[in-house]
Amino acid sequence: MSLLELNDVSTGYGHFQALFNINLRIEEGETHAVIGANGAGKSTLLRTICGLLRTEAEKVRFDGRPVGQLPPNKRVGLGISYVPEGRWVFPSLTVAENLMVGAHSRRTGMWTMDKVYELFPLLSRLRQRQAFSLSGGEQQALAIGRGLMSNPRLLLLDEVSLGLAPVVVEKIYEAMPAIIKSGTTVLLVEQDVGQAIRFADRITCMLEGRQVLEGSPKEISNEEIFAAYFGV
Ligand code: ATP
Repeated sequence: MSLLELNDVSTGYGHFQALFNINLRIEEGETHAVIGANGAGKSTLLRTICGLLRTEAEKVRFDGRPVGQLPPNKRVGLGISYVPEGRWVFPSLTVAENLMVGAHSRRTGMWTMDKVYELFPLLSRLRQRQAFSLSGGEQQALAIGRGLMSNPRLLLLDEVSLGLAPVVVEKIYEAMPAIIKSGTTVLLVEQDVGQAIRFADRITCMLEGRQVLEGSPKEISNEEIFAAYFGV
């Protein structure tokens, strides 16, 4: 049984259909990257998994359980944690308070505030600083740390490198092996295809709301990825 199963998921916003017949299996312990151009539906896919968008119950299964109708807070309790695009932090709360918010509905597990500070040493000295005063990279680290505080089995990361300088992106990605080693399954959306290929065991490429390519980066050629990405 896969940790996460999407079965023929089609969804969107009102009359606008953003996803068409998505079938996806994510195995426990795997790191899976979703790539694709702007508007391909990558964020919509994550919103469907975390519960911001609902489907029929059976269409999204987590650990064998139908969750398609559950709201996000219930899914956090089951072990699905979502780090949205755009470095969302609570600006007037301190770093420590932001992390505490992430511990709401938490499962038991290894991630504690101290573990997050160990993972991102740059946050450690900023504990009492309000989040609005942090740099983009620090806010992104905080957003990921907050996501980890619920002790997820599945961590959904949307575009963690967007708008950050390469050296900052490198710092954020340095944390990834420790997250993976902790046993957390990671599903990440990444515009930087090179980054996705380096980190992921499997990739899915989306184009206009559809899956156009899936497999291990070792088995897929750059030409195939290019063709799928641009639809040529
Ligand atoms: P990006 O990298 O630009 O975020 P994406 O692959 O994540 O792209 P989505 O954000 O999932 O794409 O968007 C898929 C489609 O759904 C796009 O056509 C987009 O305009 C539309 N869309 C996204 N969010 C909404 C919304 N809240 N209301 C209406 N349409 C939306």
